[in-house]
Order: sequence, then structure tokens, then C-alpha cells
Amino acid sequence: MPELPEVETSCRGIEPYCLNQSITKIIVRQAKLRWPVDKDISLQLSGKVISLVNRRGKYILLQLEPSLALMIHLGMSGSLRIVEKSRRASPEIGKHDHVDIELSNGKILRYNDPRRFGSILINREGEQHLRLKELGLEPLTEDFTADYLYRQCRSRSSPIKSVIMNSQLVVGVGNIYAQEALFMAGISPIRQANKISLKRISALVAAIKLILQQAIAAGGSSLKDFTAADGKPGYFQQTLKVYGRGGEACPVCDRTLKQVSIAQRTTAYCSHCQT
Ligand SMILES: [Zn+2]
Repeated sequence: MPELPEVETSCRGIEPYCLNQSITKIIVRQAKLRWPVDKDISLQLSGKVISLVNRRGKYILLQLEPSLALMIHLGMSGSLRIVEKSRRASPEIGKHDHVDIELSNGKILRYNDPRRFGSILINREGEQHLRLKELGLEPLTEDFTADYLYRQCRSRSSPIKSVIMNSQLVVGVGNIYAQEALFMAGISPIRQANKISLKRISALVAAIKLILQQAIAAGGSSLKDFTAADGKPGYFQQTLKVYGRGGEACPVCDRTLKQVSIAQRTTAYCSHCQT
């Protein structure tokens, strides 16, 4: 599933092709995404110029006017790529290529989503849009501090992993990065949030920022593939220390990594290194 770093990578990957281009047409082959694509989307947005490519949480925002943006969410399996409009150079339209956003430079921003949990929405309300207004802080901004997370933890007795994955508090810390950050900070994912010291929360905040930045940097190296006709652009394998490795040896102490379920998400950790 695309998490924040993949979405950020997608943003950076499509930006050079989209910025300052106008939308000439939007072709919707399958409108039934998580929420239906507006029937008039092509009519409403054709002729508008993309003045900014931005990200809020896991939404990619193509800003068209001060109060008009196209909002793309990749859901569980969505991806964006750039293809040529000219028939000769254009790859065949695949079964899951649901939406094409045609641009004035002859490129097409193509949305592919096998599981159709993603969405393409018109946003006329800015940050007040229903899907954006409840989003918490961006983890890579200065606002996301140890003090902030510590304050949020005070009143919560749930496992710390659930707290950092709560998108109303902080966005984009998904299952993979939550586990990796907790391992880096030496904090058990099942530790009650309100029983963790400010010092340890501070280490966790630093770990979250570092893990996400590393993932974005790793994604940057795959940007050259963004116009590739074949693969999935913007996704990348990172060196993961605990995610998906329950039952294997801890990379630090060599003891067996435990695996538990927290809020129905499989979670691996080392009960020796993480307390
Ligand atoms: Zn260990």
C-alpha cells in the first residue's frame, strides 16, 4: 500500500510533467473508485492550469485555482505514471488504467488502480474539504514536535503504535513506518502511550522523521522510472529491519522478533531491544 513516502515520491515524480500545464481533457474509463469520480470532471477542469503539485496526508493535490484542486488518493494499490499522448509512443491502455488526465504538453497523467480503493475528487473547499479537515499534523514539518506528541499521549492508554498511526494526530505514519520508527527508538509497540517519558517520545519523533526522510530519499532514486511503460513508478524496496520479519532474528541482538496484532495490523518487534 502506498504510504506517505510513496505519495511524496509520486508528487515529486509527476511535478515536472504537470506543473504549469493545462488540463485538456480527462478521460474516465471507470468512475467507480472509492468514491465515484464526478461525471462532469472533464468539463469542470478542462482548460485549468496546474499551478502547484502538493501533498496533504496521502492526498496528491493538483492546485488549479486558489480554491480549486484535483485531489488524488492512491488507496491500497493506486499509482500514477506519465505516458505520451501520441499513439505511436503511448503504451497500451491496461485493464486498471481508470483515468487519464491529458495535458497541454502532450503528456497524459495516467491513474492505475487494480483494487479501486483510491479516489479522484474535485476540491473546492481547500483544507476544509471533508477528506482533509480532520487530518493531523504533517510529520516532516516543524509543528510535529516531541512536546506535541507527548501531550497527545498523556490522555491515551492505547498502545503507542496505535497513537502514532492515528491520522487525526499525525498523518502518514503507516504500518511499515510505525514499526520501523518504534524499533529505531527502542520503544515497544504495545507500550501504553501515557506511560512513555518525554525523552523517549522525543527519540520516537526523531525516528519517525528520519525513517520517512530516508524512505523519500530512497524513492527519489526510482524517479527515473516514472515514465516507464511497464512497472509501478514511485514504489521502492527499502531496507526494513522489523516490518514483515516476525519470527526472524533481530538485526541488532539476534533474538527472535515477536509478532503481535495491534488494531488488527500485524506488528513485529524485538522484546529485548524495544521496551
Ligand atoms: Zn533485538
